[in-house]
Amino acid sequence: MTSVRYVICDLDGVVWNGDSFVVGSVEAITQLQREGASVWFVTNNSNKPPSHYEQRLGDAGVDHASQLLTSAQAAATLIESNERVLICAGPGVEWAVSEAGGVPIANTEDAVCERLDAVIVGLHIEFDYARLDRAARAVRGGARLIGTNSDTTFPTATGEAPGGGAILAAVEAATGQKALLAGKPHAPMAAAVAARIGPEFRPENAVMIGDRYSTDGRFAAELGCRFIAVSSGVAPDVEDVVVWNRVPCLADAVRFVTGER
Ligand SMILES: [Mg+2]
Repeated sequence: MTSVRYVICDLDGVVWNGDSFVVGSVEAITQLQREGASVWFVTNNSNKPPSHYEQRLGDAGVDHASQLLTSAQAAATLIESNERVLICAGPGVEWAVSEAGGVPIANTEDAVCERLDAVIVGLHIEFDYARLDRAARAVRGGARLIGTNSDTTFPTATGEAPGGGAILAAVEAATGQKALLAGKPHAPMAAAVAARIGPEFRPENAVMIGDRYSTDGRFAAELGCRFIAVSSGVAPDVEDVVVWNRVPCLADAVRFVTGER
């Protein structure tokens, strides 16, 4: 078995669920790093800047928590510098567009008179009819439609809540346009991960650990690496995914990986 050098880890449903960490997840990450694996965190959550998730991991005792990518950052790789981007998403997308050299435009009444090159849609709980109207007008006016991710729901302590993909579906329906998709399992996120890890990255030496087959499992296929499914998050949602192993939680996945290394 080819050795595992890189472990790419989903966050929601794997490292934590809502406000609580999955039991043993922090210790498992620490053990992987102690044994020399390079651990990367990849989340489709676009709502907050990466520093938010880095701080949460760091506060829990995880080292190298800045080895982290959000779907907002993947979406921002689809923006040219100085492009004007309507933000139909949370502060994480606004941050990522600025960081990538684009010009974020707030989705307010003033945005109607602006020239816009792109619209990025992601999860934002303030989404309403007026924001949908402005996003749709921008797309009909020629702006590229980009989605941070296509997840229609995400898990919460009280069950599944509507995700960014549900908001994106509304913009697609209102415009008749299909969005370019950035996050897992799509190519922009795979390219962003490979670029961040660097030229030494070899997918055959990597494993993706995630809970959602349609995003994490297919993302492993997009990257060309193996997939370990954990059942600490959402239930398996598609059947056409090759699974290297299926285990209860991250700590079990790490025991399996370290046994194989
Ligand atoms: Mg997940």
